[in-house]
Amino acid sequence: ADLYRIDGWGAPYFSVNTSGNISVRPYGKNTLPHQEIDLMKIVKKVSDPKSAGGLGLQLPLIVRLPDVLQNRLESLQSAFDFAIQSQGYESHYQGVFPVKCNQDRFIVEDVVKFGSAFRFGLEAGSKPELLLAMSCLCKGNPEALLVCNGFKDADYIALALVARKLALNTVIVLEQEEELDLVINLSQKLSVHPVIGVRAKLRTKHAGHFGSTSGEKGKFGLTTIQILRVVRKLEQAGMLDSLQLLHFHIGSQIPSTDLLADGVSEAAQIYCELVRLGAHMRVIDIGGGLGIDYDGSKSSESDISVGYGLEEYAMAVVRAVQHVCDRKSVKHPVICSESGRALVSHHSILIFEAVSASVHDSPATSLSLQRFVEGLSEEARVDYQNLAAAAVSGEYETCLRFADQLKQRCVDQFKEGSLGIEQLADVDGLCDLVSKEVGATDPVRTYHVNLSVFTCIPDFWGIGQLFPIVPIHRLDQRPGARGILSDLTCDSDGKIDKFIGGESSLPLHELEGSDVVFGGSGKYYLGMFLGGAYEEALGGLHNLFGGPSVVRVLQSDGPHSFAVTRAMPGPSCGDVLRVMQHEPELMFETLKHRAEECGHEDGMTNGSLASGLALSFHKMPYLVAGSSCCMTNSGY
Ligand code: PLP
Repeated sequence: ADLYRIDGWGAPYFSVNTSGNISVRPYGKNTLPHQEIDLMKIVKKVSDPKSAGGLGLQLPLIVRLPDVLQNRLESLQSAFDFAIQSQGYESHYQGVFPVKCNQDRFIVEDVVKFGSAFRFGLEAGSKPELLLAMSCLCKGNPEALLVCNGFKDADYIALALVARKLALNTVIVLEQEEELDLVINLSQKLSVHPVIGVRAKLRTKHAGHFGSTSGEKGKFGLTTIQILRVVRKLEQAGMLDSLQLLHFHIGSQIPSTDLLADGVSEAAQIYCELVRLGAHMRVIDIGGGLGIDYDGSKSSESDISVGYGLEEYAMAVVRAVQHVCDRKSVKHPVICSESGRALVSHHSILIFEAVSASVHDSPATSLSLQRFVEGLSEEARVDYQNLAAAAVSGEYETCLRFADQLKQRCVDQFKEGSLGIEQLADVDGLCDLVSKEVGATDPVRTYHVNLSVFTCIPDFWGIGQLFPIVPIHRLDQRPGARGILSDLTCDSDGKIDKFIGGESSLPLHELEGSDVVFGGSGKYYLGMFLGGAYEEALGGLHNLFGGPSVVRVLQSDGPHSFAVTRAMPGPSCGDVLRVMQHEPELMFETLKHRAEECGHEDGMTNGSLASGLALSFHKMPYLVAGSSCCMTNSGY
């Protein structure tokens, strides 16, 4: 566990159990020992078609744990409740979940359900997000906020006004000054009295990667001059009572509570000024930014860690708002946060397999020196003799230099056509042998993983964000190798070669079964943790691999301490082709026709070729582990 810093980033949800597997504690520190869930048991149950109740789902797989989500939500709420109580703050905390973080229907529905007791609401940043938030909140607490952020057109604003008509507690947050005219006109047209918020562009700047849109020159929000113009215009329209919320967002992963308190204090001053100017202010919405400690270092110096926990975050916010409001004798506002990352990251785990690993060829047995030397050109032979002499006298650097030179000459000779493929293999073998003998072999191996980095971990590829990646079993054995992970896509960027802790390779176990394990007996499963926010929402269809399968696992008292309540296979080849405008049905007809033309009528009539082809469209694009010869399985 120490090798992978599991206690740092995983507590209180993930640990290693006595079987050497990753164990999930669904209720965090309140989990009783018998409620712990062995992640390997979930993987076996859902992927093995032969196990009792097995679902035969293909990997990669996202395991969603709603109990963990509920625990995160309740922990956030209690952190604020505690800070509010202990500081004597005279209002309450009422959060919203920004659906952009993960728009999955079941996650949003769960947030609304779990948060109903706390009036927990939703934040939307686009029209489709607003539509989904509206439909989900219809089943939630009527006091829950529906915060409408993002750039808005007339349709967006009209939809938000309709949401108010549907008795949803909707706030239209002005992101640009021009939106105000639309709000005033449309609300008159639709006869709705709107509730309006303004997003302030704060001077406080978050310098980390995720703060690039913060500060005076940030992309979003209104400047001080614009906020004042909004107040005047609302006053003229007789609608200043509509202005009730002040919002800001200085970026995700706010590194320290000092910076947080700085931003919150600045916003609280603006809030108090708006009260002074006559707005009916009620809510201060501090945006997102509550960070996650991805590497367990608790450091405020890194983009992937933060120097505080939920409790310290809540305390810093409550104190800062209270301090400013008390000095200005302003009634304490409701505190709203739009925490996304901190709510959903932990509850979802991406599981994938290492299907093979590179091995260093052992050439010695097949190397035929006589054949090799005979085929060499004059210069290459001299290189070979120099190499041999350097080896005898133990000059390792010289050895390597002559080996490189010899190899290059042989490649040139091969390209010219004067060296056979056997000799080319011999020179490769000889050079590998030399590297091994002088200790210059790269000890890092490449593990091929059944996954697309682009669709499953887009932030790693796009912005270099690191997530904890750990084998989910065999953790009672010390890993004997180090490796980088190379994915299935035909793309040189499709690899993971940076890991938490600044490492350029990951300690990994030898694959069991055979040297190049394609369908070998021992499967090797890895988990990527803390990826529940943004990764699924951002992932595209790179190389047409599509997304992973998804299962929903609830803690339950029974022999395994869990129950799979929902299982969704990932998109099939047909599904991903359809997204790219292909028509799988037509493609199938074309292929079938071609097969008939090629004289496979028999195959077609007994159905095996046709059904094999049809199945190809229905299967996921990922490899089926353990069946390197897919033809036999698919009925061709
Ligand atoms: N609110 C707004 C306006 C955002 O832009 C974001 C994302 O950056 C969030 C909330 C969620 O932030 P986080 O995931 O850091 O909580």
